[in-house]
Amino acid sequence: MIGFDDEQGARIISAVKGIADVEVDNLLRPKTLNEYVGQDKIKSNLLVYINAAKNRGEHLDHVLLYGPPGLGKTTLSRIIANELETRITVTSGPAIERGADLAAILTNLSPNEVLFIDEIHRLNHAVEEILYPAMEDFSLDFVVGKGPSAKSIRINLPPFTLIGATTRAGMLTGPLRDRFGVHARLELYSPDDLNTIVLNSARALCTDIMPEASMEIAKRSRGTPRIANRILKRVRDFAQVKGNGVIDYEITCYALNTMEIDALGLDNVDKNVLFAIMDKFSGGPVGLDTIAASTGEDSMTIEDVYEPYLLQLGFIARTPRGRICLPACYEHYGKPVNFDKMARLGIFTDTVKEETAQNDGAV
Ligand code: ADP
Repeated sequence: MIGFDDEQGARIISAVKGIADVEVDNLLRPKTLNEYVGQDKIKSNLLVYINAAKNRGEHLDHVLLYGPPGLGKTTLSRIIANELETRITVTSGPAIERGADLAAILTNLSPNEVLFIDEIHRLNHAVEEILYPAMEDFSLDFVVGKGPSAKSIRINLPPFTLIGATTRAGMLTGPLRDRFGVHARLELYSPDDLNTIVLNSARALCTDIMPEASMEIAKRSRGTPRIANRILKRVRDFAQVKGNGVIDYEITCYALNTMEIDALGLDNVDKNVLFAIMDKFSGGPVGLDTIAASTGEDSMTIEDVYEPYLLQLGFIARTPRGRICLPACYEHYGKPVNFDKMARLGIFTDTVKEETAQNDGAV
């Protein structure tokens, strides 16, 4: 199916992890902070905290990593454990169903170990309550027995570092968020950083790639390493079957066009969402749920997966009354911009100012 990754039935340019990503993610994951490309501010701060904790022989403070899927949160947490020279236990919010599950994980940690909880915003309330004293005092509180004979028992835990990853920091409860000493928001990557990642990944996959080809993949990867790696794998298939095995610019463009990924990395789903706002709702403002209903997409997926990149491109904006399409979006799809409306919405880009001034002059 065009635009879809047949191995997993998922969109090629969706940053959400699919089954086929697991193997390649593990193969391509950098192991040290040095190998981890981009996110320089986060890396340099983490290096200080990690070295300080190591020098003191203590655990690292709890770390909250947040940002859209595929930006390297899991990778970074493994690197932190590696740099701390400790073990890491990996789990996820939905996998910890009961308090007893979390208690079992916590009591099995060794001193200063890293516990990584992916999708931490999906922890249920009962489990979260157990996590508070564990994070703060390294202890677990249990009530044994019932009625007047009930006793509260406290179990001491070894000190550990919790690394929580989430795509939605806003959904974390205040008490949980406050217990993280380090908050790091991962940003979408620049084409140059993605280019480096693609070149490194091609080397790890023992594939020859031309510089213009890797840059083209980087430019069409929506600022997301997971998408860059996934596109690289597919383009490698095209190079093998339709070319001579080397990934050059021509085969890359051919493969990307066949997969219907445009010059900016947008596919048909982005187009449907943007056209719905531009055509059905006259450019907005329109609520997220209405966009979801009119395109058949899930509103959470639109918000977490598509929107970050569309916002970064300056194609849409979030306003208190809903989403609106911006001039850059109309221009990309060759549609006329309604400058008066933009001005009414308070969108004052240079072009809008110029056009509105011209229109005012004409009247
Ligand atoms: P997340 O947990 O945020 O969804 P992952 O950590 O699973 O993302 O990263 C997805 C893939 O992208 C990994 O396999 C890794 O190879 C690659 N990757 C992510 N960030 C980087 C980076 N900064 N440098 C190199 N590769 C990266």
